[in-house]
Amino acid sequence: MKKILVLNCGSSSMKYHMFDKDFKSLLSGIVERIGEKAQLVHRRDSETLKKKADVKNHKQAIALMLELLHDPVWGAIRRVDEISVVGHRVVHGGQLSKTGLVSGAALGYLKSFEMLAPLHNPHNITGIIESKKAMPRVPQVMVFDTAFHQTMPRKAYMYGLPYHFFDKYAVRKYGFHGTSHKYVAMRAAWMLGKRKPNLITCHLGAGSSLTAVKEGKSVDTSMGMTPLEGVMMGTRTGDTDPAVVQYLVKNHGFDLDELFQVMNHKSGLLGVSGVSKDVRVIEGKAKKGDERCRLALEMYCYRVAKYIGAYAVALGDVDAIVFTAGIGENSASMRREICSYLGIIGVRLDLRKNQKASGKETDISARGSKLRVLVIPTNEELMIAREAAAVVEGL
Ligand code: ADP
Repeated sequence: MKKILVLNCGSSSMKYHMFDKDFKSLLSGIVERIGEKAQLVHRRDSETLKKKADVKNHKQAIALMLELLHDPVWGAIRRVDEISVVGHRVVHGGQLSKTGLVSGAALGYLKSFEMLAPLHNPHNITGIIESKKAMPRVPQVMVFDTAFHQTMPRKAYMYGLPYHFFDKYAVRKYGFHGTSHKYVAMRAAWMLGKRKPNLITCHLGAGSSLTAVKEGKSVDTSMGMTPLEGVMMGTRTGDTDPAVVQYLVKNHGFDLDELFQVMNHKSGLLGVSGVSKDVRVIEGKAKKGDERCRLALEMYCYRVAKYIGAYAVALGDVDAIVFTAGIGENSASMRREICSYLGIIGVRLDLRKNQKASGKETDISARGSKLRVLVIPTNEELMIAREAAAVVEGL
């Protein structure tokens, strides 16, 4: 194993991260605003290079990245064949359960349902195609956000719809953020000194989802066939009666696509607060007495706590609750409010540890708490690198 490159292509951005054979981070970067005033931010050691870049598409973004990877000051390789594998983040893997090498068949399958993750999959696929063209001899591996959840039992992933909707149209819960849930579950096992703990992992970021992890495996998760289901999020509704959609379309002249835009991009914390999707901003306004900001935060915490209760039932026995991602890692007040509902399952928080916990792996539960409460910063890129390396090592 030589070096491992991780690529995460979005609609107008491309993130990259290179690791050495021991998974030590060597460099990382992002090309943003591809297509218009593009900008590159590249990091190596503690130095940062920031510059404008004439990058019109992902092909050019990859070319620019490769140039930098070879740079004597900013790079880490002399030849492309020093890269043993490229790991690509792919948001929706559908029924593909395993991380695997890119193939024509796999890409064809992914394309067939890219409308289910329209913000991510088309761009993930473009990234894979361009990366394969630019580095034809380097193995390319797809790591799906959905893969970790393929262990869910049928009773968890089926919807209460006619069975043939599942058979014929593959309508089911797939779940997302799997790479993050898997990473924090592994770190939690290490922190607890238990090989296969039962966990409720809470990825609370701009997109938010919870997973019930039984003996190391996902047995239920809050996002669904698409990331719209589950808890309320930065701009997504989370669980909503589907009849609301019919009502607004039939009685209030909404266009279906427009309504889904609103449900994905203008709802959640942003929609309720009317101010921002960012908890930092909303908390600031709530402190100054903004009622709708207070309501948005209350709704968010209440919904997360309800899912934790549900997953405690799903698991039967819980070793720890894990908080991760932007809100989970950084907001002591949101963690405190969520945990304030959880006395019933034996959670007791150490308020001082909670207050100080931001940004590093910490046990924030009080002595005497029935289950542990952990803050674990996520590291999806490291997890993708590990998974991709495991695929080529197994070849
Ligand atoms: P993404 O899903 O885009 O990766 P992140 O996990 O980075 O999202 O989470 C971003 C969100 O985390 C922000 O929108 C904000 O609500 C929240 N956040 C980040 N830092 C803090 C903080 N210090 N306090 C409260 N919330 C924070």
